[in-house]
Amino acid sequence: MERIVSEAKELQAELVEMRRTLHRQPEIGMELPKTMAHTKQKLEELGLKPQIMGKSGLVVTIGQGEPCFLIRGDMDALPIKEESGEPFSSENENMHACGHDFHTTMLYGAAKLLKEHEAELKGTVKLMFQPGEELLQGAKAMVTDGVLENPKVDAAAMIHVFPGLPVKSGMVLVPEGGPFASTSDWFEINIQGKGGHAATPELTVNPLTVMSHIHLALHALEAREISMYDSAVISTTIMKGGVVDNAIPDTAYMRGSIRTFDQEVRKFIFKRIPEIAEGVAQTFGATVDVQMIEGCPTVEVDHDVTEAIRESLTQVFPGDIATPKDAGMHKLGGSEDFSYVTQEVPSSMLLLTSGHSDQYPYFVHHPKVVFDEDVLSKGAAVYTIIAMDWLAKNK
Ligand SMILES: [Zn+2]
Ligand SMILES: [Zn+2]
Repeated sequence: MERIVSEAKELQAELVEMRRTLHRQPEIGMELPKTMAHTKQKLEELGLKPQIMGKSGLVVTIGQGEPCFLIRGDMDALPIKEESGEPFSSENENMHACGHDFHTTMLYGAAKLLKEHEAELKGTVKLMFQPGEELLQGAKAMVTDGVLENPKVDAAAMIHVFPGLPVKSGMVLVPEGGPFASTSDWFEINIQGKGGHAATPELTVNPLTVMSHIHLALHALEAREISMYDSAVISTTIMKGGVVDNAIPDTAYMRGSIRTFDQEVRKFIFKRIPEIAEGVAQTFGATVDVQMIEGCPTVEVDHDVTEAIRESLTQVFPGDIATPKDAGMHKLGGSEDFSYVTQEVPSSMLLLTSGHSDQYPYFVHHPKVVFDEDVLSKGAAVYTIIAMDWLAKNK
């Protein structure tokens, strides 16, 4: 496996070039025509036959027979105007602020390494290039379209780059088994009050008053009804209503995000938000229409797959393997739609640190975030090694 690491290092210049090409032309959502075309062409130049799945997903298999290990990279960007100051900054209004240009490039690098070592593979590696991660729709769509079938996937893993942590660049953070990234759900509440003149509140039902009380009651739900052994976040993020200072509006609208790690806690909150909103509305003589919307489930990290990966990587990169806790992280409060894969097959999720916080102070999704390109070849090597080793151990 040391050979893979040195071969990956030889790819570094090509990977930097590919990453910068993708970085200049970020695309968002489920349709990524330029990103997909560029990646597909580069895979074809390796002699591979990538299949298009959905509008912009790509699936490639290398090797043959059982078992089958899937490695996944996402390809979409964010509707953020880049302020990083990099000479290869985005040329449009979007930005690769979550490092998915790294993931696409690292997975391409793995394709190249795996193709060169195809004869040594003890099974099949399936590479999943997905759109729409930021919408939390891309992985679900590809699972629905059959990415885990033909050949049937036995286990899977993904890598996410992570700048801004107080640890050296190029560390691989391997979590413990269990839920790692949170669910991402949301609520929407339409409040029907009774509008009227601002000077005669006694003739109206002000939906803004109702909305304020619902907002506070939801924080009480979070603070007073969830056990200290569980965790949940309920954040109101949109409150809208009213147009002018001398009229009480008829309706108001609020919306917010819910994050949990436990299915029972998730169900409890889904039950309580409508109860609270309806109760508060009734108190003030208003009515509400509450929608609870399921986003994506938790990323479930499989113990066995992850410990096999930890063992493989520790042999090849001694000193560079740690846990998220070592880097000051408990779990990921953000969500990751690879969760849809982890709900179907035993899976793992790795973090690749890409810039010490001293030199790289910004996190992903910040308009000024910068990523350390030195980790590109390492990412390609990690994808390759975990796939080859898992196949060998599970033949
Ligand atoms: Zn993101
Ligand atoms: Zn991301």
